[in-house]
Amino acid sequence: MQGAVLYGPRDVRFEERDIPTIIKQTDAIIRISAACVCGSDLWPYRGIQPIAQPTPMGHEYCGIVEEVGSAVTSVKPGQFVIGSFFASDNICPTCQIGYQSSCQHRELIGGAQAPLLRVPLADGTLVATSEVPSEDLIPNLLTLSDVMGTGWFAADAANVKPGSTVVVVGDGAVGLLGVLSAKQMGAKRIIAMSRRASRQKLAREFGATDIVTERGDEGIARIKELTNGISADSVLECVGTQESMMQAIKSTRPGGYVGYVGVPHGVSLDGEQLFFSHVHLHGGPAPVRRYLPELIKLVLDGKINPGKVFDLTLPLDQVAEGYRAMDERRAIKSLLRPNGTN
Ligand SMILES: [Zn+2]
Repeated sequence: MQGAVLYGPRDVRFEERDIPTIIKQTDAIIRISAACVCGSDLWPYRGIQPIAQPTPMGHEYCGIVEEVGSAVTSVKPGQFVIGSFFASDNICPTCQIGYQSSCQHRELIGGAQAPLLRVPLADGTLVATSEVPSEDLIPNLLTLSDVMGTGWFAADAANVKPGSTVVVVGDGAVGLLGVLSAKQMGAKRIIAMSRRASRQKLAREFGATDIVTERGDEGIARIKELTNGISADSVLECVGTQESMMQAIKSTRPGGYVGYVGVPHGVSLDGEQLFFSHVHLHGGPAPVRRYLPELIKLVLDGKINPGKVFDLTLPLDQVAEGYRAMDERRAIKSLLRPNGTN
């Protein structure tokens, strides 16, 4: 089979790879219905996060179970499944308190930008839908594997409640779905920080009530102005830079919450500043598995349409263009369809 492999900065190739097989009896092999390019794939793509060797790419996936190991009992061939970017057993103490992305036996998923994928710990990781969903639902369901689950975790970690005032820092796909999540959780006011017209439009569609284009001190001042001088109850940090993290902390009211899900690159916090900020900080890799059943239901009931973040759809063999378009910000998020499965 052919799949995406990253060789170095801005060098993604679509090339021959080994067909994945069952290695442990707890594995499943799934035939990918759709995959996509993650904002976090852009860190190694841009060379900011160096790679040691050519690396099969992709960790967001959904598809049809092709084969399962002899120990797998909860999913079977022919079922449509979605899983998280971290495989988890879903039974260890850490999983049981809802932090499956820190599972004691977690394994990072890789190589999903391909026709077939091996998923370890299939019983704990994969959630099957009761029937194979219609084609139009696939993009929505695919987002639950990471980007939507991550936006949802950002809002949950930021303690968004009915009536909350929320700020979302970052207008990438995660930030936009953070807006959608906050709306779904009942936030009254959602301020999206964005400078790009197409993203502002989608943010509004997802439920943003205000747009702030300023950044840094001006951005912080603008948030204060919009919130009667007190700043926001909940702030979603969806970027992962020093600037975005400080933007988030300084846009939060005393006693408020920052939910941070941008993978940090070069972020360091000053203890004294943190001390006097009086904010709660909670974040990390989203425990997507915890939210899958609830989010699948919201999609199947037509309550949310997170697949709208895909503004570019390509056949899998054009994966390199999917990366380029996101790198150059021509696309918010690229959806990839393996040949012959759509
Ligand atoms: Zn676990």
